[in-house]
Amino acid sequence: MASIELVRVTKTFEKNDVIKDLHLTIADGSFTVLVGPSGCGKTTLLRMIAGIDPQTAGSVLIGGKDVTSIAPGKRGVAMVFQNYAIYPTMSVRENIEFGLKNNKVDKEERKRLVETISATVGLADYLDRKPSTLSGGQRQRVALARAMVKKPSVFLMDEPLSNLDAKLRAQMRLELIELHKQLGTTFVYVTHDQVEAMSMADNIVLMNKGVIQQEAPPDGMYHDPSNLFAAQFIGVPPMNIGELSMNGAKFGFRPERAQVRPAGQAGGTNPDHFSMTGMIVTREMLGSETLYQVRRSDGNAYMVKCLEDLFAVDQEVQIDVAPEHLFFFAEDGSRIRRDDRSYAEYMRALRGMRNG
Ligand code: ATP
Repeated sequence: MASIELVRVTKTFEKNDVIKDLHLTIADGSFTVLVGPSGCGKTTLLRMIAGIDPQTAGSVLIGGKDVTSIAPGKRGVAMVFQNYAIYPTMSVRENIEFGLKNNKVDKEERKRLVETISATVGLADYLDRKPSTLSGGQRQRVALARAMVKKPSVFLMDEPLSNLDAKLRAQMRLELIELHKQLGTTFVYVTHDQVEAMSMADNIVLMNKGVIQQEAPPDGMYHDPSNLFAAQFIGVPPMNIGELSMNGAKFGFRPERAQVRPAGQAGGTNPDHFSMTGMIVTREMLGSETLYQVRRSDGNAYMVKCLEDLFAVDQEVQIDVAPEHLFFFAEDGSRIRRDDRSYAEYMRALRGMRNG
């Protein structure tokens, strides 16, 4: 087990600073997920930790030790990548135990480890197969198993599940959570998929354009986003965002926080709530919940999520969001919180939007 620390790390490609002066501490034994849109620098960060493509400036510490000048194979890290090359001429068993043989682990222990780990990743019935006879997902699991047997102090994973179908991916997510619990090892997992991040991480590091936007456990990321980018990136469907009649200012609410009722029904609206009437333009019945897109007369549409499927397309409804579920953002995307001096001004601007 080991913590990881990145101290003032910069990575430059062709005079371009992809990551600049980045600080990050990953706690020992945590399951940390680096998430962000394509090209934001997640893989670059992971490769720096692994030592495959070292930083241009700054230091990387693993277990408190500066590993900047230590070769990748000596850092105590194991990696699984999306396109991890497994040895095509070796069977699944041979692939998995390859590193163990190299490390002179005795035959009995090798057998035990290969069997336990292959069972964990669902490959127990495939041990004598050659990789060419496996599906993409099964090959990926061989790569995962091969990294697991090394018992590294840090596990680095770059989108390891992206080649799997949705069902298997969901199953593997649970298995990775379980595996992390069993091993107690530090996991650093890269994905662009926020659902994956939310479901597996105990700590999420959200990046955009090489800059950390927010670092928080999943519930903090969801309920307390620190800026507009975090608010929009995390959540399916994403947070509704609307313009306020103030320079670049915005408000937002999560789709499940809106109370929806038929328009014109008795019951006044609270002046501190965001209230609007609109027409349902789409309805997606998802089983346990229904998503409606509600369009206001000004043309803006908002997604709402209801547990009961009570409304129909073309129906006029009223939406109501209580102030504790409203978010405000300044022009630069920073969050305006309730204890902020300008909060009242944002609330006034929101009230000005009524009856639209
Ligand atoms: P994805 O989710 O698409 O894998 P990512 O967040 O992992 O994206 P990186 O692969 O880290 O992003 O790339 C970050 C930026 O660095 C991108 O703009 C990319 O074009 C650039 N980059 C990465 N590797 C190199 C390289 N070897 N030479 C030049 N530019 C590079």
